[in-house]
Amino acid sequence: NREGKSILTLNHVTKRFSGLVAVNDLSLDMKERTIHALIGPNGAGKSTAINMITGLLPLTEGEIYHEDTKISGMNAHQIARTSCSRTFQNLKLYRSMTVKENLMMGNMTDRKQGFVPFLFDIKNANKEEKLMNEKADQILEFMGLKDLAGEYPANMPYGKQKLTELARSLMSDPRLLFLDEPAAGLNPSERVEFVNIMLKVFDSGIDIFLIEHNMDVIMNISNYITVINFGAKIAESTPEEIQQDPVVIKAYLGD
Ligand code: ADP
Ligand code: MG
Repeated sequence: NREGKSILTLNHVTKRFSGLVAVNDLSLDMKERTIHALIGPNGAGKSTAINMITGLLPLTEGEIYHEDTKISGMNAHQIARTSCSRTFQNLKLYRSMTVKENLMMGNMTDRKQGFVPFLFDIKNANKEEKLMNEKADQILEFMGLKDLAGEYPANMPYGKQKLTELARSLMSDPRLLFLDEPAAGLNPSERVEFVNIMLKVFDSGIDIFLIEHNMDVIMNISNYITVINFGAKIAESTPEEIQQDPVVIKAYLGD
């Protein structure tokens, strides 16, 4: 459905780190109701791209839009409020908090703007906390993590930790979710579980922008793929066509 409405648009986005061009004049158009994958060899600039999109890194050049809203130039909290949410390549769970506390904490930090009134208005604070509590329960149920609500991340298998991170990213009601190598480090059965949950999340109405190294995962679940190498786009198409593309095959064999 390349005809659909754009949910994410990158126009000539470049990121330079002193001498190094990490992302080089990258343009892409992600359509609504798709799982759009960004792939490429190690060091290709994938995480840098997602960090710019979600406001963790400033762009050197270019513009980024979420639907019709220009998000380049906004900070991460402002972008989160446009209904974008993300997970990180390396886990960012709070180790001293339970699974459920991690979900509730993720939501609080996304609401920095409302934090001061929140502290002074106890009555609203209690109401707010009750709502977040209920929402966390619903999401844990949806993700199949209900039984682990009171568990600490360090006591759980890595696959469950990754699911917890995904669960936490849903607390802010995203319409567009960014996942940076969510299946990295998972064993084959955890990977199958994660892919199924990702599809369930997608089916619930959330569009997914996915960075992933595992080709089986990419080819199985993405609708459209952008391939970058040395920061620049080298191919863009459906999974079927990308798999046959000699330029892509060469980039990966040279990795
Ligand atoms: P990928 O996620 O595709 O593996 P990255 O986006 O992490 O690649 O990195 C792209 C390039 O930018 C790499 O050469 C990396 O070393 C470099 N890089 C990433 N972050 C920084 C930074 N903060 N400062 C300098 N160079 C960086
Ligand atoms: Mg990366």
